[in-house]
Amino acid sequence: MTRLPEEVHSNKAFGWAAKDSSCVLSPFNFFTRETGEKDVTFKVLYCGICHSDLHMVKNEWGNSIYPLVPGHEIVGEVTEIGCKVQKFKVGDRVGVGCMVGSCHSCDNCMNNLENYCPKMIFTYGTKYYDGAVTHGGYSNIMVVNEHFTVSIPENLPLDATAPLLCAGITVYSPLRFYGLDKPGLRVGVVGLGGLGHLAVKFAKAMGTNVTVISTSPSKQKEALENLGADSFLVSRDQDQLQAAIGTLDGIIDTVSAQHPLLPLLGLLKSHGKLVILGIPGKPFELQVFPLIQGRKLLGGSMIGGMKETQEMIDFAVEHNIKTDIEVIAMDYVNTAMDRLLKGDVKYRFVIDIGNTLRPSS
Ligand code: NAP
Ligand code: ZN
Ligand code: ZN
Repeated sequence: MTRLPEEVHSNKAFGWAAKDSSCVLSPFNFFTRETGEKDVTFKVLYCGICHSDLHMVKNEWGNSIYPLVPGHEIVGEVTEIGCKVQKFKVGDRVGVGCMVGSCHSCDNCMNNLENYCPKMIFTYGTKYYDGAVTHGGYSNIMVVNEHFTVSIPENLPLDATAPLLCAGITVYSPLRFYGLDKPGLRVGVVGLGGLGHLAVKFAKAMGTNVTVISTSPSKQKEALENLGADSFLVSRDQDQLQAAIGTLDGIIDTVSAQHPLLPLLGLLKSHGKLVILGIPGKPFELQVFPLIQGRKLLGGSMIGGMKETQEMIDFAVEHNIKTDIEVIAMDYVNTAMDRLLKGDVKYRFVIDIGNTLRPSS
């Protein structure tokens, strides 16, 4: 049975929530659990706005539970730890991404792939073990099992690190898993948003040659000059697409809306891989001929396991990878959601929770 947090817990918390699918967030008081034996409790300082938050607020995947407190790119400072916590102490800088629980005994969990555990618990909008619905990082406080908490090194800025917890690991993991991390390979990145701009940075740091494939010609200059991409294709320009047929070893597709896959399959060399990361509310249409001609592979990927998430953060430190962010106040969140929908952000909104979230009466 799904229970409201106030039926289960007594610790007061506050944040902003969507009360229905009308895409309006407003202040919301709720309750969290006490710090359990293996829990880390932390004050939320920054939280990124992922396009998944927007899909969820609008119930585009059909599984949203309201009131819904979004946010799964969360960083903060530890205020309390449970008696069996080993990795963290009070005052540590920590982060939490998309998941807060898994079974710890299935094959995926045993192989550090908690993200593919059938019993994985999402950071928000999912029933926790105690029956309460989880709430995310658009809030003042998080209580999370230490297994799902990562350490944020001192030399990483907290605000620009928050988006690594979802966007960063989501692009890092498939680049590794699908072998698109070898120097000299030609990698395409479709959709230059939050995920896409980090895919460019990680793929470049791995030594690949990166082509951005975008609907926005206005992003070309910056993609080449600031993000370090090697080339840029406007996806609605047939001549440009035609000239690039059969040139890419792999494509990371981060587009948040339904779009044609046929031209993307055409850009791949034989044995090329098209990896879908975006989760539009509507299904794709797939013509199989372009897939079977050239033995191409269509794959997907969802975030990454906890071990790989920490590895991704270490890689970001080593290669000085930072998210390009626009820091906003909590009460700007509805405007930010509108702008995100229009693609008007370079490249991630991050909410300054620590300084701008106020308790509501
Ligand atoms: P975002 O910042 O909004 O970026 C999406 C980009 O897609 C836009 O900047 C735009 O880039 C392109 N785009 C948008 N609408 C389009 C359309 N109708 N046709 C073609 N291109 C379009 O979103 P995000 O936060 O990066 O998230 C992207 C998607 O990944 C979302 O669906 C999100 O739910 C999903 N996601 C999946 C995972 C996972 O584990 N698989 C994790 C996080 C997020 P251009 O202007 O360059 O065309
Ligand atoms: Zn996300
Ligand atoms: Zn499991």
